[in-house]
Amino acid sequence: MKINHDFDNLVENYLFAEVASRTTRYVEANPDKKVIKMGIGDVTLPLAPVVVEAMKKGADELANKETFKGYPSYEGYAFLREAISGYYAKNGVEVAADEIFVSDGAKSDCGNIGDIFSKDNVVLVTDPVYPVYVDSNIMAGRKIVYAPSTAENGFCAMPDENVHADIIYLCSPNNPTGAVYSAEQLKIWIDYALKNDAIILFDSAYEAFISDDSPRSIFAVEGARQCAIEFCSLSKTAGFTGTRCGYTVIPKELERDGHNIHKLWYRRQSTKFNGVSYPVQCAAAAVFSETGLNQIKENINYYRKNAKVITDTMDELGIYYTGGKNSPYIWIKCPNDLGSWEFFDLLLEKSNVVGTPGEGFGDCGKGYLRFTAFASYEDTVEAMQRIKDMLK
Ligand code: PLP
Repeated sequence: MKINHDFDNLVENYLFAEVASRTTRYVEANPDKKVIKMGIGDVTLPLAPVVVEAMKKGADELANKETFKGYPSYEGYAFLREAISGYYAKNGVEVAADEIFVSDGAKSDCGNIGDIFSKDNVVLVTDPVYPVYVDSNIMAGRKIVYAPSTAENGFCAMPDENVHADIIYLCSPNNPTGAVYSAEQLKIWIDYALKNDAIILFDSAYEAFISDDSPRSIFAVEGARQCAIEFCSLSKTAGFTGTRCGYTVIPKELERDGHNIHKLWYRRQSTKFNGVSYPVQCAAAAVFSETGLNQIKENINYYRKNAKVITDTMDELGIYYTGGKNSPYIWIKCPNDLGSWEFFDLLLEKSNVVGTPGEGFGDCGKGYLRFTAFASYEDTVEAMQRIKDMLK
């Protein structure tokens, strides 16, 4: 037998392991120092009360013969798909319930979607990038081209008309840079995709953090229904990183290569996926109720307040950054032209603060560092004060 040798082409990503190992080494050598982790990529606030209530009620129903549920439908219960469709409508976007596929999260779908596309397609990702897009396509043996996100374009990479791509991953608000595409910029990507007969895979996992009029969905922009698939997640929206629920939107009219993409994805899901558990779908539907939306907003506002503490500090120090306003990520230029790891070490040793070195997300991340807004407010304030003391 032979394994899939495309796995040999994966580059080992030491980023988080190396961050953890350098942090542990420092803590062990300096047990009296309080190290603050500002690189946390997971939420830290608990689920909203109305969500937990709905999950418990769903579990209770499974305990009764009359209300027991077996396998859910592959694409999700109608009550949840309708709730998601209603959420889109509240944001001014028309997405029908039967265009929504409920899943166990955006990570799985961002990778699994490749099942319906040929190995011969060229994949475009922006650099720096959420590593899942790259690694899942390397595993599938696809060629990857990179569109650079830099300070010059505000970390919003734009298409190069001389480069052809068939599959385009865009993430807005972006992980790791926190940058957000405007409607005009997304329209340029849509026109490029239509010209190249390509499909845009739009990851809107952080849409709930948008606080201005930037588009929360690519379907808010004209032409997207002819060229885009959208992935979204309740992980950061509502603290579902451990609970697991997301959704993918495929317009019914989306066609490529003589095939209907919505039908192909249904075929794929019905073959390899048996749905999300009933209590979790009940919990997810509660997120989109009026009470749910109000309760999750409180958590998001907590993270937003942290983000503001970080961006205010960077403003005060005159450090260039993106993100923070519409995102829990703040992407900062390392001061004094330090490299990502050099600044990481300096921060750890002099301020006892941990960030995530930008170069771990791609070549264009060199010289940058990512902070997140997921630490406690008190720790965020203390970490920023320490950085001010160090750099002033
Ligand atoms: N997409 C992006 C850009 C992310 O940063 C993450 C999580 O960090 C995900 C998707 C994963 O989402 P989920 O927890 O729904 O799998």
